[in-house]
Amino acid sequence: MTDVAIVGAGPTGLATACELALAGVSCTIVERRAAEPNITRAFGLHARALELLDARGMADELVEQGNPLRTVHPAYASTVDFGRLDTRYPMLLVVPQSGTEQLLSRRANELGVQIRRGAAVTDLTQDASSVRLHLDDGTELVTQYVVGADGAHSTVRDLIDVGFVGESYDMPMLLADVRLPSGADSPISQVGTEGAVVVLPFGDGWFRVGAWLLRPEETGTDFAQIRRAFHLIAGTDYDMSEPRWCSRFLAQRRQARAYRSGRVFLAGDAAHVNSPIGGQGMNTGIQDAFNLGWKLAADVNG
Ligand SMILES: Cc1cc2nc3c(=O)[nH]c(=O)nc-3n(C[C@H](O)[C@H](O)[C@H](O)COP(=O)(O)OP(=O)(O)OC[C@H]3O[C@@H](n4cnc5c(N)ncnc54)[C@H](O)[C@@H]3O)c2cc1C
Repeated sequence: MTDVAIVGAGPTGLATACELALAGVSCTIVERRAAEPNITRAFGLHARALELLDARGMADELVEQGNPLRTVHPAYASTVDFGRLDTRYPMLLVVPQSGTEQLLSRRANELGVQIRRGAAVTDLTQDASSVRLHLDDGTELVTQYVVGADGAHSTVRDLIDVGFVGESYDMPMLLADVRLPSGADSPISQVGTEGAVVVLPFGDGWFRVGAWLLRPEETGTDFAQIRRAFHLIAGTDYDMSEPRWCSRFLAQRRQARAYRSGRVFLAGDAAHVNSPIGGQGMNTGIQDAFNLGWKLAADVNG
């Protein structure tokens, strides 16, 4: 019997598995997707997540891959100065989520974590000493504990019936990763009467662009809509091209009523979601993983 089963191989699940395995706890990750993702979603790591990764020797490799920003201008005439933070990492490190996931996945493999890809959890039952997970391939997994790190639409959260209270924001967001002509290498943000736009450079020729329109149009592709939003708000689309990823969605602010039911825990997006403005979603998931990992390991180890 594996000590802990983790549902979901996103950043939260992978980081939890690394912490458990480092403490000698056997763990298996069950992941619905058959292949590793190449989409970016989260664009940045903040100081606290970098400090935690640094404690395990994983931050500097990401700093080498990413683009450290000392200041950002989230709204008209406002500046956030990360350079003033009392930390080894006084920055917002702009790095694609896939880069962070690949690093965590590699470390999990080195530590002997089993990752079962292409299998989804469909049901669970628990008693005083174990949890039984039912998978969609007809198999079962019996463990001491389960961590539901299966994202905003968490099956584990539904199965332990703790609810997910909160609401959606009214304003849709448009996000894309694009190319911009050379020379545009600093972050840009503009707020106007029609909404707001941001441009963040990954530092490798790719840029994360985002737009929030007060009166959104819903015609055309997501990329056409984001270019139109930039024209409306900033007066230019900065000649963006080659979108490798685009998304239009309503952000949510929600939280599970409890993060634990018996032997089953929730972490990351399964436990809480917030607007991507501020770029904290993945960061808080990694922090959940480091917080839960050592405590669960201490319990399993007696
Ligand atoms: C469009 C978009 C843009 C975003 N932009 C940002 C941003 O700019 N900055 C930021 O910090 N955050 C952003 N986020 C949020 C960020 O991506 C998440 O906070 C982060 O991925 C959470 O990690 P996680 O591991 O908790 O969940 P996820 O990354 O969602 O991983 C959950 C995993 O569980 C798997 N899974 C689900 N159900 C099952 C099941 N039943 N059985 C087995 N496996 C299952 C899924 O396949 C998935 O791999 C964005 C999210 C979206 C959707």
